[in-house]
Amino acid sequence: MEKTSNMELIERLEREHTLTKDEFVQLISTFTPEEAERAGKLARRLTDEFYGHDIYMRGLIEFTNYCRNDCLYCGIRRSNRELERYRLSSEDILMCTDEGYRLGFRTFVLQGGEDPQFSDEDICEIVRGIKDQHPDCAVTLSIGEKTREQYLMYFQAGADRYLLRHETANEEHYRMLHPESLSLANRKRCLRDLKEIGYQVGTGFMVQSPYQRPEHLAEDLLFIKELEPHMIGIGPFVPHHATPFAEFPAGTLEMTTFLISLLRLLVPEALIPATTALGTIDPMGREKGVLAGANVVMPNLSPQEVREKYMLYDNKICTGDEAAECRNCMDMRFKILGYEPVVDRGDHVSRRVGEADDKQTDLR
Ligand code: SAH
Repeated sequence: MEKTSNMELIERLEREHTLTKDEFVQLISTFTPEEAERAGKLARRLTDEFYGHDIYMRGLIEFTNYCRNDCLYCGIRRSNRELERYRLSSEDILMCTDEGYRLGFRTFVLQGGEDPQFSDEDICEIVRGIKDQHPDCAVTLSIGEKTREQYLMYFQAGADRYLLRHETANEEHYRMLHPESLSLANRKRCLRDLKEIGYQVGTGFMVQSPYQRPEHLAEDLLFIKELEPHMIGIGPFVPHHATPFAEFPAGTLEMTTFLISLLRLLVPEALIPATTALGTIDPMGREKGVLAGANVVMPNLSPQEVREKYMLYDNKICTGDEAAECRNCMDMRFKILGYEPVVDRGDHVSRRVGEADDKQTDLR
């Protein structure tokens, strides 16, 4: 039997929102620039149907770079002794969210290493503090692996969303990227618990991380299809000089934007960021991400003094900027392309624009 062409696969993915593992492997290992462009066009059209040309902004607050984990790719891993560590106080964090609110942010993402110094009560207090001051905002946590009880506590304190990338859906590959204390099974358990509790959940993976093969990426796509997350964040792997992966090459713009398009065709209503890592490997990376089907950006709201210290990878962009500069930069970059960074929580929707019941604004 003759092999199905990549163009046919892309068009089938647009219609049916899934493919087999072998078909994904074929696409990922043999796509041409023309095929990527076609996937991008179809993906962007689908994005427009659900979200129009709105770009949702999430204000990122990197509140601690202490981490008890030792992930081999990550610049804030425990064994990086070169790094000056910091923690923001609750007051610092609330100053960031106040500033962010003035700038038009309606979602705040608290991200950090897994820092045991922040107790569950501390996290809950921070979440409650933000929700008290800004009840019209969504709070997203991205603080790693916890027990179900902990996730439940944060949710009850008012957290709306949680970001936890699965990093790779292949067991063997997972073990090559992580220390023995971490397991893919526990990562997946966390994601299931988060969904069951009622969070809007984001997962995702690094593109072209060390030892990654097309089969692994195909497994990532199928895992995501099965999980049905509300948000999907992917970005190129970028080496950090003080990690065991310092000498590995960064992932490419072409592969990352193609995968953004495939993810859009796979899960049409997902919120997909054009990530900082994508902006790091190419000065127009985030714009190209949006043109390939992304609809979220996550500018930095962390205080300028600490930004240099939250170095997950080398050459991370915007570390010298202030929150207001990042905010203006988003407007400049996207308006020129005909997209609109909006003052909105940017909740997940399940209907196309104009379909009955428009947006589910009552979603937490
Ligand atoms: N401790 C939290 C937050 C991790 S940092 C957690 O475990 O979820 C957020 C994301 O940055 C990670 O999920 C990882 O995918 C990404 N990241 C870390 N190091 C990176 C690198 N060297 N290149 C690209 N992305 C990286």
